[in-house]
Amino acid sequence: MDKNINQSKMPVYRDAGFSFYRFEDIEQIFGEEKSNSWQPEKYIYSRYRNPTVTHTEQKLAKLENSNWSILSASGMASIDMAISILYNAEKKSNILFFSEIYGGTISYMNYVLKQKRGVDFGVFNTENGVYNLNKLDELLSSGKYTVLYFEAVSNPFLVVSDAKEIIRIAKKYNVKVIVDNTFATSILWKPVENGADLVVHSVTKYLSGHGSITAGVLSGNAANLLHEAIEYRKLVGAILSPDDAWRIAEQLDTFEMRVKKHNKNALKVAQFLDKHPKISTVIYPGLESDNFYNEAKKLFNNKGFGGMLTFEIAGKNEEAKKAAVVKYLNKSKESIPIIPSMGETQTIQLPIYAVWKDRSPSPSYIRLSVGIENVDEIILNLENALK
Ligand code: PLP
Repeated sequence: MDKNINQSKMPVYRDAGFSFYRFEDIEQIFGEEKSNSWQPEKYIYSRYRNPTVTHTEQKLAKLENSNWSILSASGMASIDMAISILYNAEKKSNILFFSEIYGGTISYMNYVLKQKRGVDFGVFNTENGVYNLNKLDELLSSGKYTVLYFEAVSNPFLVVSDAKEIIRIAKKYNVKVIVDNTFATSILWKPVENGADLVVHSVTKYLSGHGSITAGVLSGNAANLLHEAIEYRKLVGAILSPDDAWRIAEQLDTFEMRVKKHNKNALKVAQFLDKHPKISTVIYPGLESDNFYNEAKKLFNNKGFGGMLTFEIAGKNEEAKKAAVVKYLNKSKESIPIIPSMGETQTIQLPIYAVWKDRSPSPSYIRLSVGIENVDEIILNLENALK
């Protein structure tokens, strides 16, 4: 690199492997790598670690206020990493998943954990839509579970957990905690700061924020878990490409600004939909009428309520509701694209029933990922589609 160039950004290191000039150097670094004393700033081969990826990881750790962050090729790869590094086959670890989580994670539990690896897990269900934490305490006190997994704000029905209390209960019984914080984001609260062992984000969503990258991140404080995460990623080959890491580093510069605008717009859109005669339900923790308003206010410390909401189109019966949803989508799809993702700068939507029939109580629910456009424009698009 020309030393005279003023470089404010990390270059993209596309090298698959890095050069060594002496036998002793390569012998030493492979010795360190095998003994786990390998330093993050030393690079061998890009499936192990890559300088551009490390640079983005350092930015992510700063955002999360965690000691470390490890990037993977998708949010699912980070979820798999979190569960796998906390799982101990010899001790017959048993994992407890909260029931209200992303459908892909539920499929992962059933296919990868149960069918392919024979790993035991339990599911902690809600009662009348909320988690009974006395029951959780009782369940964890049995000593049966060693790992707990939950989403602070759940996809797609926005159940807000009393996350700090859940972590407190888990710690009492020495149960390790993984939080998927994709919906809430680290702007609203930071799980590791609050005692979680690991936090996972689908970087595909708010962190990269433009719907143009698939990536995931796992963050934590414990050094032994960092070593395990690096080893696991290296051996399953789940590292992110340096080009994508570079673009994420750039997109992170606007992360806080974007999320604040998403949250502000979502509140206004939720208030608009809540008053609309053709909408029967709006699920958004920022509405005072929402089941989780107080929970969210407490957990997020009045910083906002997120950029995601779910609403239901009114209809006399299920048939009428489905017809109304189809009509609404046909009218709105040009201005609000139907995309099975979220957390993008543009407002996008998803008919929940079309994706997760078994999880949607009715065909009438639409998940809306509110973008950062002018909010009056978003409301006008919805208003026109609902006419
Ligand atoms: N966690 C949540 C809450 C999600 O919504 C998703 C994807 O939609 C994931 C994890 C998985 O992320 P990815 O699609 O980046 O693998």
